[in-house]
Amino acid sequence: MAKKKDSNTLYCSFCGRSDREVELMLPGMNGCICNDCAERAVELSHEYLNKMALSSLPDLDMESLPKPAEIKAYLDQYVIGQDTAKRYLSVAVYNHYKRLNQKHDDEIDIEKSNIIIVGPTGTGKTLLAKTIARMLKVPFAIVDATVLTEAGYVGEDIESLLTRLLAACDYNVAEAERGIVFIDEIDKIARKGDNPSITRDVSGEGVQQGLLKLLEGSVVNVPPQGGRKHPEQKMIAVDTKNILFICGGAFEGIERKIALRMNTHVVGYGNGNHVSKSDRDKLLHFVAPQDLRSYGLIPEIIGRLPILTNLEPLDRDALLRILTEPRNAIVRQYKKLLEMDGVELIIEDDVLTYVVDKSIEYKLGARGLRSLFETIMIDVMYQAPSLGEKRYVLTKEFAQHQLDKSNFDLISKSL
Ligand code: ADP
Repeated sequence: MAKKKDSNTLYCSFCGRSDREVELMLPGMNGCICNDCAERAVELSHEYLNKMALSSLPDLDMESLPKPAEIKAYLDQYVIGQDTAKRYLSVAVYNHYKRLNQKHDDEIDIEKSNIIIVGPTGTGKTLLAKTIARMLKVPFAIVDATVLTEAGYVGEDIESLLTRLLAACDYNVAEAERGIVFIDEIDKIARKGDNPSITRDVSGEGVQQGLLKLLEGSVVNVPPQGGRKHPEQKMIAVDTKNILFICGGAFEGIERKIALRMNTHVVGYGNGNHVSKSDRDKLLHFVAPQDLRSYGLIPEIIGRLPILTNLEPLDRDALLRILTEPRNAIVRQYKKLLEMDGVELIIEDDVLTYVVDKSIEYKLGARGLRSLFETIMIDVMYQAPSLGEKRYVLTKEFAQHQLDKSNFDLISKSL
């Protein structure tokens, strides 16, 4: 016992202070520990356990990791076009691996390069994220920024963004700490107006400030079940220093901001016609950090997303390719489904152009292709397994008939 024989005073077995010098002295079997030493012991054991967990993580062997060109080639199998974004993503993921492999005593500290992808809805942002996730060697999670609100309001706390990442690696904190998070719909947390004090902006600047903490790299307390934090809940501390963030958003109407900026800029050089109306679709090419700022993202967030890239709007040709080319293209999927019934599905070429034109007419883009096809194919899928025919030829007339019958023009309004 640390009790001195001649007195009732208790002494801490670690720092030697008496119970009069500390707030709390906890007696044990053969000694005592003061509250300060107990706290330090908890901290040290956390540090130690984290180090142990880190050293037991599987090594990322650079030799065996896919190079950027290989990552892009993989994406090419599933995502049509969007070359620029694919290149940026492949390099970012590869550099992320390099960073994780960097020795701590290295003089040059490789900074992380979070990415922001701007592109119209339905052009493949989520598809790119999901596809890359399948080949990653680190945990990955896709989360949606729309549910986030400032602390104290209905919605989810920013830290809940990391809950999914933790779940993706069975709550192994060390694994999660080197993962990648894709934040979809980042534009939804843009500040709604130039003056934030006019109306309450619960999902605007406050949320961005919170997000900034995650992007910058800090230790945050994550609620294991997600949602809102509450006092009784046990939190998991996660260091975001090595987590790579990829953000995506449609930023609807940002073309106007780009045009405005470019016109003034270009006029200055005596070439005011540079941005013609027909170039509108191409404007996204020129998206720059200041456009995100005019859209309502705070400069600090933009600074933490140093790589800015864009997705192209999908033209008629791209939509046609989407129907047939990707490894899991819609046409391939239907062929496979019928093949399982012993039926060969033959689709005449004009069916494909018809479906694409309808998708453009109803302004549904790539997302509409599947619903159009579902509507056209429903009766075939219903009957083919029972008919015992070996072949089915899908004609444009039949497709047209099916769409007319289903009132697709009305349905499409709710899609
Ligand atoms: P968003 O950009 O809104 O995240 P998504 O990635 O969710 O769009 O795309 C919606 C659907 O449209 C995808 O599931 C996919 O079927 C199709 N699609 C969109 N863009 C492409 C593309 N570039 N290549 C192949 N399919 C695409």
